[in-house]
Amino acid sequence: MLGLMQDWPLLVHKLIDHAALNHGSREIVTRSVEGPIVRATYGQIAARARRVAAALDRFGVRPGERVATLAWNTAQHLESWYGIAGLGAVYHTLNPRLFPEQIAWIANHAEDKVLFFDLSFAGIVEQIAPQVPSIKLFVALTDRAHLPEAKIPDLVAYEDFIAAVDDGFTWRTFDENTACGLCYTSGTTGHPKGVLYSHRSNVLHAFIAGQADALGARGADAILPVVPMFHANAWALAFLAPMIGAKLVMPGPKLDGPSIYELLESEAVTMTAAVPTVWLALLQYLETTGKTLSHLKRVVIGGSAAPRAMIETFETKYGVEVAHAWGMTEMSPIGTVGTLKAGMEKLPYQRQLDYKVKQGRPPFGVEMKIVDDEDRELPRDGKAFGRLKVRGPSVAKGYFRGEGAEAFDADGWFDTGDVATLDPEGFMTITDRAKDVIKSGGEWISSIEIENLAVGHPAVAEAAVIGVAHPKWDERPLLVVVLKPGKSASRDEILEYLTGKIAKWWLPDDVAFVEDIPHTATGKIQKITLRKMFTDYRLPTIA
Ligand code: AMP
Repeated sequence: MLGLMQDWPLLVHKLIDHAALNHGSREIVTRSVEGPIVRATYGQIAARARRVAAALDRFGVRPGERVATLAWNTAQHLESWYGIAGLGAVYHTLNPRLFPEQIAWIANHAEDKVLFFDLSFAGIVEQIAPQVPSIKLFVALTDRAHLPEAKIPDLVAYEDFIAAVDDGFTWRTFDENTACGLCYTSGTTGHPKGVLYSHRSNVLHAFIAGQADALGARGADAILPVVPMFHANAWALAFLAPMIGAKLVMPGPKLDGPSIYELLESEAVTMTAAVPTVWLALLQYLETTGKTLSHLKRVVIGGSAAPRAMIETFETKYGVEVAHAWGMTEMSPIGTVGTLKAGMEKLPYQRQLDYKVKQGRPPFGVEMKIVDDEDRELPRDGKAFGRLKVRGPSVAKGYFRGEGAEAFDADGWFDTGDVATLDPEGFMTITDRAKDVIKSGGEWISSIEIENLAVGHPAVAEAAVIGVAHPKWDERPLLVVVLKPGKSASRDEILEYLTGKIAKWWLPDDVAFVEDIPHTATGKIQKITLRKMFTDYRLPTIA
């Protein structure tokens, strides 16, 4: 017998309608790309989102088509997402930190039809425009007076684009499983893969992330998502804030310590979220200036492991509670949050910290297990480590265009590629990454891509790239090289050879020459051993 409850599809644009109706005057404050701080309300954002939908509809964007964004966290970016989604089209966040070639590859793979971009990225857009024939319209997220001079075809100013229509657009209704958003994740091998969120998964993910023991945000909060909207949906905050009516403070292009501090104080921000690198910069700024945090209550740290000292400094020196979170683009992204359980607050602080440095525990809606190489489940004893697999309504069940199917098993588990332990309390700890990509400032650097290029140098026999600890960026790439017999090349010659072939920030910080690179039984480079060899290696880029 079926229940007799209403079938109310979980559609993303219902979130912005809810916010407009119930929190219509609640503010969204943006540090605009043009410079000034601009203020809008949920009421205004919802109306402008309908204009975005109407303008795209008039231009000829059909349901299911991809509308890309290359943009910072701003109110315009937010209303664009809702407008695109409410039309039944798919917002596709492009990561501007990638090399233009990669951005063009991804936009082609996604067959984006329209591109919304911030002025900061006009140069990139000028470069990629001729390479992506599917894009028929380029919308600069600005007004006519600020239109860039770059040579971009079919260019229109966003404010003109949405002024040409009214805000009476009726949201489309469709199945809640309809595609809503697209975000590419770069793996170790092959090309980036697209994660295709649905309306249902985005709404459920906001509920999951919004649990008190997960992100724990409330309507009374003023939330500053430093984590970009192009980095896995700004960790749910773009959906969660309208769901609960929280004030949003959007940092735009300025993510440095002083700029973030200014917003935290001037907008009385109570909760914020970003990768550890951002917090390192903020803490250094506080340290050198002697300033304190007047309003901030909670900081979410994720994307890379939050260092113990960082958690301790926030909590004991500045009175800000840390929520250490782990997740993945494929998980929308929240997987775990390290909120303490009943009784743990009575533990001595250093014991509490032992839990807080772990990656956290799953909220309802995320299932986790660890398995060995034969896919046998391992005990949750905090000691056994294995491949971490996950399942849930906001976890991908496949990649866009059916790629990467090997990561998904017949029982619906997704192999995260992380190696982890699970303890009896449900806390997960990442011990290593099965993937060997390097995380610099919270962003991926593919070791294999650099290796493949490096072995193109005439004197290089074999190359391996590993991440080496760096105080500012967490990790920076070190290129380890075996030279061909009788050949020679200097560090600078090899780096020079790579320059221009990869994004500038992917360039290894140093080159180490070795006689031999360790290999596994199947002939793969043994990165774990290599990392051990270079544990104490000090990069020349560390001041
Ligand atoms: P992304 O899809 O770019 O968000 O990257 C996801 C990956 O980042 C995960 O599979 C982890 O390897 C890593 N990651 C995310 N959060 C953490 C964390 N708190 N600690 C350690 N690694 C993390």
